Amino acid sequence: MTDHTHLPEDRCPACLHKLSCATAALLEGIAPSPGDLTLCLYCGAFLAFTDELRHRKADPAELDELDGFTRREFERARRQIMARHPDPKAWRTN
Ligand SMILES: [Zn+2]
Repeated sequence: MTDHTHLPEDRCPACLHKLSCATAALLEGIAPSPGDLTLCLYCGAFLAFTDELRHRKADPAELDELDGFTRREFERARRQIMARHPDPKAWRTN
């Protein structure tokens, strides 16, 4: 079983880094669906999947709708991303 899903090549709307796959953070083998929330692993931006499984910036109202556990997990993952990549523009390759 693979731990990630290949997606149509896209760019993060926040940092413009190329994005072409997604990994479920908490459940193995789960593929993203339209409307699901995600994080850019390069800049930590909160994103959502469009109907074509491309990325758009998440609406703050969508984040407010998350249950407390999921919201805390998103925040924890974002802090880890930001700790590893404090300046995504410094190492952008595209
Ligand atoms: Zn990004």
